Amino acid sequence: MTMTTCDLYIRADVVVTQNDTREVIEDGAVAISGNEIVGVGPHERLRGAFAPVETRHLARRLLMPGLINSHTHAGMTYFRGAADDLPLMQWLTDHIWPIERAVTTEIIHFGALLGCAEMLRSGTTTFCDMYLVEDETARAVDDSGIRATLGEGIFVFPSPAYQNVQEAYEVVADFHRRHKDHERIATIVSPHGVYTTTKEILTDSYALAERLDLPWQIHLAESESETAQCLEQWGKRPVAYLESLGLLSERSLLHHCVDLTDEEIALFADRKVNVVHNPESNMKLASGTARTQALTEAGVSLLLGTDGAASNNNLNMFTEMTSAALVQKALRMDPTAMSAQTVLDMATRNAGGALGWNRIGQLVPGFAADIIALDLDSPNMLPLYTPSSHLVYAATGLEVVMTMVAGRIVYEEGRFMGFDYPALVEEAARVAAWLVEQKKSAAKG
Ligand SMILES: [Zn+2]
Repeated sequence: MTMTTCDLYIRADVVVTQNDTREVIEDGAVAISGNEIVGVGPHERLRGAFAPVETRHLARRLLMPGLINSHTHAGMTYFRGAADDLPLMQWLTDHIWPIERAVTTEIIHFGALLGCAEMLRSGTTTFCDMYLVEDETARAVDDSGIRATLGEGIFVFPSPAYQNVQEAYEVVADFHRRHKDHERIATIVSPHGVYTTTKEILTDSYALAERLDLPWQIHLAESESETAQCLEQWGKRPVAYLESLGLLSERSLLHHCVDLTDEEIALFADRKVNVVHNPESNMKLASGTARTQALTEAGVSLLLGTDGAASNNNLNMFTEMTSAALVQKALRMDPTAMSAQTVLDMATRNAGGALGWNRIGQLVPGFAADIIALDLDSPNMLPLYTPSSHLVYAATGLEVVMTMVAGRIVYEEGRFMGFDYPALVEEAARVAAWLVEQKKSAAKG
């Protein structure tokens, strides 16, 4: 039998592949060459097929695809805990936007790097972002070793990255031009929401996404108050508004979608849009609960995100999976709603294509080597019957002992390989002092 050389061969007690049959392998192994997976299977079968440069036997670990956080604002992580327990519009207008008007690129970079650190630590290997000055987030992604789909937020008003919307489109096109060959950075066109843009911004940004063949994302139908405002401003509910402009397609990544009618859910299935569920942010801002079970039953592509640290207040996809399963059971008074496997799919295999990556979210040959290892001997992981159950209902993210992105280990046992974490900890105190000062001067007017 001929042996194929590979760079790394990892063996572990349990391998959760998330492949088409949701295969779980006991005493399994993953072979990696360069940035991709070249073999997955039982160690007994795979050991004779590969001649690895390096072999690691992780024993009491579970290997699985890294989680995919399909909606966040990593650069906003400096806001964590700065303003809680407020309604969405008041929270945005009185607490978030005044600080953002004064924010510096250094603080956004700090937030983005801290967000990357938190995601890698808790097993996320890819995130989809929308924020201001995405160059700073790109720098954090580049350094930290995580994978990301990044979108400069487009608003009708100026941002730190541009003076007007024409400049915003140039910023997006230029970002794409500079990153299109980057191994771990993709671009997404990102009008912020129906209440912060115009008809022209929505259609022009969508045309830009078509021209560059990029995905297009927007916050949509997040709350009943957004619907009321949209009816008043544009004469239609948010979904009908986008439909009237021809903006619902496979290219569309729609965040929140809490306030939907049955007809809108059916339309989503027809148009093959991608819906990102953000249960913790929706609960915390009391926006309501998206009808994910109904969306799943209708065949709508469903993804999962944390939203930003200002409204969650963490970027942990393991606890987000728990919330996604539990909140839907509570909403429907039905314990069979949103099974563990359905939720695990939302956080892994459902997400790749919608974010512009075709081969992430599964441990399958030809897919990116984005892999995490969890400690199966954590007290909360014992005993083990069904891995998908533990991953959704029992795991906290702190069981993650190793995070690999594109074949490189970027976090392991408390150490980040791409940046100086102790320096980031020191910077956090300086940033917090700055934000408190900003709040004081904003309060004085
Ligand atoms: Zn958001």
